[in-house]
Amino acid sequence: MGPLPKRKISKTRRNKRRSHDHLTPQHLVLCEGCGEYHKAHHVCPKCGTYKGETVVEVDEA
Ligand SMILES: [Zn+2]
Repeated sequence: MGPLPKRKISKTRRNKRRSHDHLTPQHLVLCEGCGEYHKAHHVCPKCGTYKGETVVEVDEA
């Protein structure tokens, strides 16, 4: 016999395994500039602020 699993994995077991598959952006921090969440260690895309200092000028349309 080939390298096949001995048993079929049940729907329940498969679904339980996949329950961890979701891709959610974690590591979010509150922006000191605008109070919105943005990625940690990244410049805020909304106000161009990083650690309370303006790094990039963002045009408010
Ligand atoms: Zn911001």
